[in-house]
Amino acid sequence: ENIIEVKDLHYRYKDDTHALKGISLSVPKGSRTALVGPNGAGKSTLLLHLNAINLPQQGSIKVAGIEVSPATEKEIRNKVGLVFQDPDDQVFAMTAWDDVAFGPLNMGLGRDEVKSRVEDALKLVGMWEFKDKAPHHLSFGQKKRVAIAGVVAMDPEVIILDEPTAYLDPGGQDVLMEILAGFHKRGKTILLATHDMDLAAEWADRIIVIKSGRTLAEGGKELLVNKD
Ligand code: ADP
Ligand code: ADP
Repeated sequence: ENIIEVKDLHYRYKDDTHALKGISLSVPKGSRTALVGPNGAGKSTLLLHLNAINLPQQGSIKVAGIEVSPATEKEIRNKVGLVFQDPDDQVFAMTAWDDVAFGPLNMGLGRDEVKSRVEDALKLVGMWEFKDKAPHHLSFGQKKRVAIAGVVAMDPEVIILDEPTAYLDPGGQDVLMEILAGFHKRGKTILLATHDMDLAAEWADRIIVIKSGRTLAEGGKELLVNKD
């Protein structure tokens, strides 16, 4: 069963850059899928579609059987959580606590449910002791963890991370890998975009290789053998 299905998706930016050129791919439910490809391949552009921030100009995307369209935007965003590459694009509230609460509050959850989700999420990423800190006083890695907690607190079915290890030191990368292992144990699907083939080979059970806005290959880890 595929939780995400992309068929013949095209996307052109306003300056006419043809970033996605008929890309098709699928993400199995419960998988740890790595989306790999060089810088400029179209990874970020694709991820913005999977969370309905960008809408398909041509082609289609289904998430858990629901077609991504203006009518389903909100529903899709509750099913698919996206962690941006740069946490400064995502973390903006006055305190870490408020930041993580934003999504669950927006979903209309009750106050007690919001509190317990925020607490669980901040503890999961090891940021509970920083709950009252202003995000702009946190380090890059800490902000990233708050951004991840904000996504976790919404309890989406799919968690997508764009270059999650970029700019993290090895300690920060280990923490991140532990957090991802925790999601996977909860039965979540994880899609991680990276240009780091070693990370993909170590972590993923499914690999999608894209280049120049198209899918080159989809399959198991054997795809990465001799590709360094
Ligand atoms: P990746 O995440 O794999 O590095 P991107 O999706 O960021 O790739 O970029 C795909 C292509 O789209 C590149 O040619 C990039 O220069 C272009 N691109 C990305 N964002 C924009 C934008 N906002 N406006 C115009 N072109 C863009
Ligand atoms: P109010 O009664 O003003 O609505 P809340 O209890 O909802 O207050 O939250 C006020 C602030 O207290 C929040 O912005 C957050 O920083 C902090 N906070 C709320 N709930 C908790 C909690 N369970 N644990 C720690 N801090 C909390």
